[in-house]
Parts: sequence; C-alpha cells; structure tokens
Amino acid sequence: DWDTRLDIRQKDEMGMLGQSINNLAQSLQRYRDTRQEFFANISHELRTPITYLEGYSKVLTDNLVENEAEKKKYLTIIHQEAIRLQKLVDDLFELSKMEEGKIELTMERLDMKDIILNTLSKVKLKAEQKNIILKTELHQDIPFILGDSYRMEQILLNLLENAIKYTDQGEIIVQLVSENSSLVLSVSDTGQGIPEEELPYIFDRFYRIEKSRSRDYGGTGLGLSIVKKLVDLQGGSIHVESKLDVGTTFTLTFPQHEELESLEGSS
Ligand code: ADP
Repeated sequence: DWDTRLDIRQKDEMGMLGQSINNLAQSLQRYRDTRQEFFANISHELRTPITYLEGYSKVLTDNLVENEAEKKKYLTIIHQEAIRLQKLVDDLFELSKMEEGKIELTMERLDMKDIILNTLSKVKLKAEQKNIILKTELHQDIPFILGDSYRMEQILLNLLENAIKYTDQGEIIVQLVSENSSLVLSVSDTGQGIPEEELPYIFDRFYRIEKSRSRDYGGTGLGLSIVKKLVDLQGGSIHVESKLDVGTTFTLTFPQHEELESLEGSS
C-alpha cells in the first residue's frame, strides 16, 4: 500500500543521505590529514637547514675552529643551506600560487624546438662539468601547441636539471616527435634511475628517493610536483619510466590545439 511504499522510499532516501554525509566526512578527514602532513613536511624541511645554519655559525662565532680549511668547509655548508632555504621558499610560494589557481598563463602558439634549444643552452655548462653529453632528436613536422613559453621552459629546465643531477655518466637525450597529432616530448638520461616501487610517488610534494642521498644534491622534493602542475595547467600529461642503474625517461604529451590544427590545415 501507499504508506509502506512511501516508507520504503523515505528509508532509501535517508540511507542515501547518510551515505553522502559519510562520504563527505571521509573526504574532510582526508583533506585534514593531507593538510596536516603538508605542514609537518614544511616544518621538517625548514628545520633541517636551519639546524645546520645554527650549528655551524655558532661553532664559527665561538672561534672553535682554528684550521682555515675546516672554517671554509663550514662556511660552504652555511652557504649551501642558505641557498636550499631560498629554493624551498621560492618553490613553496610557486606551488601555493598554482594550487590557488593564482598563476596566469600566457597561452600562445609555441614552437617547441626553439624552447628546447633555448633551455639546453642554459644547462650546457652544468652537463659539461659532469662530462654528460646532451643530445637532441627533434623530428620535422611537429604540431604547434598552445602553451606558455616561460612555463614550458621552466618544465624542461626542471627535468633537465634533474637528469644532470641524478646522472653520473653518459648522456641525456631530448626527443620531440609527433604522435596521433599530439606533440610528444621526452627527456631520457642514463643515470641512477628510480626504484619501481617509488615511481608512483615521485610527483608528490616533498617526495624524494633516499632522503639522505637527495640532500647531497640540494633538492627540495618539490620540483616534480611543480612540473606536473604546470603540465596539467597547459592541458598536457606527464609519464615516467625508469630502471634502477640504467636510466629514466620523462615523457610529456600535449594535444594539438583544435584551432591550430585547422590553421595548419588551411596553410
Ligand atoms: P628534488 O628537488 O629532490 O630533485 P624532485 O621533485 O625534482 O625533487 O624529484 C623527486 C625525486 O625524484 C628526487 O629526489 C630524485 O630522487 C628523483 N628523481 C627525479 N628525477 C630523476 C632522474 N632523472 N633520475 C633519477 N631520479 C630522479
């Protein structure tokens, strides 16, 4: 009868409402956990260089080091840690702007070849200092895409700097090809590689492989999360493949913009 039917419907609706509230509560809890983890990470990352700065500057001001070489070593550490703090603060600022949707991209028709060559010239010296060979394989007929040239360079610079940092010998290849009317850009190195079980996390904020090892390289663990955000903002996707002690390849795919496609077609 009507009453029982109504009753059942009401119960169903109540059940669904309960479920929604449950889901909402769970999401809220997850959000709180991530926020808390984020701030715990920031505090940790800031505390470490500060501890070094405090300790070594105290030893020096108390005149506890007589040996000149030793003094220089401590001053170098102080300098490096100050630079690390600067980078950390810059990266955090950049990331927070992105997360709040507060960065403005100037989207224009990009010539990726120019961007690649420009960025490579910036890292040439660093690579030479480590005897790393930089190579390019830039195919003809690459589709034009819409993107922000400054941000695109930032992405590439980050990937190249990582490739140089985590490669001890061998080469880095930047490849640009066209696939299914998308632009595919890859940066491959013959470096240390990334353990398979760590691959799913490397785009996470503050994630670093073997924290102590990464410290020697002066990283913040924020570089790749910034790269991923910038790629997403420009409608692309990023993918990584790696083998320990063999090397790593980051592949970026950007779809050709429809309007540009028809422009190409008509020209
Ligand atoms: P970091 O500032 O520490 O380099 P990133 O977010 O740029 O932080 O990278 C995260 C971690 O991924 C690095 O600490 C490093 O261990 C690993 N990684 C990134 N790029 C490479 C690469 N080309 N080869 C090997 N490991 C890499």
